Amino acid sequence: MTDSPLSRRQLLGTAAFAGAAALLPRDLAGQAAAPAPAPAANGFVIVTSANGLEAAKVARQALIQGKDPLDAAIAGVNVAELDPDDVTVGYGGIPNEEGVVELDAAVMDGRTMRAGAVAALTGVKTPSRVARLVMDRTDRVFLVGAGARRFATAHGFPDEDLLTEKTRKIWLHWKNRLSDLDDWIEAARDAEDPDVKRFLEKYGKGLFRPQGTIHLSVRSAKGDLVGVTTTSGLFFKIPGRVGDSPVVGAGLYSENGVGSAGSTGRGEANLVTCGSHTVVEYLRNGLAPEEACLRALKRIAEKTHLVPRHRDDKGRPTFNVNFYCVDAAGRAAGAALWSGGKYVVGDTDGVRTLESAWLYRKDA
Ligand code: ASP
Repeated sequence: MTDSPLSRRQLLGTAAFAGAAALLPRDLAGQAAAPAPAPAANGFVIVTSANGLEAAKVARQALIQGKDPLDAAIAGVNVAELDPDDVTVGYGGIPNEEGVVELDAAVMDGRTMRAGAVAALTGVKTPSRVARLVMDRTDRVFLVGAGARRFATAHGFPDEDLLTEKTRKIWLHWKNRLSDLDDWIEAARDAEDPDVKRFLEKYGKGLFRPQGTIHLSVRSAKGDLVGVTTTSGLFFKIPGRVGDSPVVGAGLYSENGVGSAGSTGRGEANLVTCGSHTVVEYLRNGLAPEEACLRALKRIAEKTHLVPRHRDDKGRPTFNVNFYCVDAAGRAAGAALWSGGKYVVGDTDGVRTLESAWLYRKDA
């Protein structure tokens, strides 16, 4: 990439964006989030997705106790992975179309530029810990499917059932109402089940096909940068489908001296644009964290909204992607394609939820 540091106003006036501008909606100027968190002078900074409030608290305590930043980050996301009520991550995650929970996770250590990842891993509630072992105990980066499972077993992880009673009912409801052309019949009572009802209320009305993930990046007091991303992926996915989350450069990227970034949202859009790496490259080129996230989102909007089924009648993406990042100076940001997103920041002062910057207003 040859980008130089540019403000948002300058960015929209560049030749690079002139061609794309014709394709982009008028409101693509983006919206800054206010106020951006102040950089921590000598302290640590945590940035995580909206579902990471408890994770940030745990990571914060670990950092206060002087723990290693990657251990702190993993301990943080383990809270979401082990929480059966977070249906987007780990234990109790929404299964694939066959009712099997397949998990993806990756860790990256910006001190060593080493990473570890697992994908389509079954039976382990905390795939982030297995990803860490891939980094620490092998000379490889990425293990998938049956190989990842055998690796986890070799390291003492039991093969557990990750489908909860709640997610089994939700999956069966989805399966029963998929089509009139198969053998499955929706029971009249299904949608009245409180678990199914709550799920449909939370995830059934949005603009987008439901999915979810947790990303958590840490910039330690020493300035070290690490990240972890973990997910159960797209709800009811095709077995074996892997999104962006465990892919280094897409779902996360951390490099000492530059920054750490991660993503949630439509993995396919982020995979083909290597989003987290793009965010960190923009940091390297001098952009502030929020600007770096917005510019990577603009790249996604330019490149992936061209497919008609991914566009609304105004040409805007019919999906969402969120980025979270912290730079080497400890400045944190969160931004999304669509307004209404949130992210969480933790530092020596505490933990707080903030509004993400955005490119498109949801109700416009
Ligand atoms: N990015 C995840 C995936 O595509 C899902 C999400 O974050 O919502 O698997």
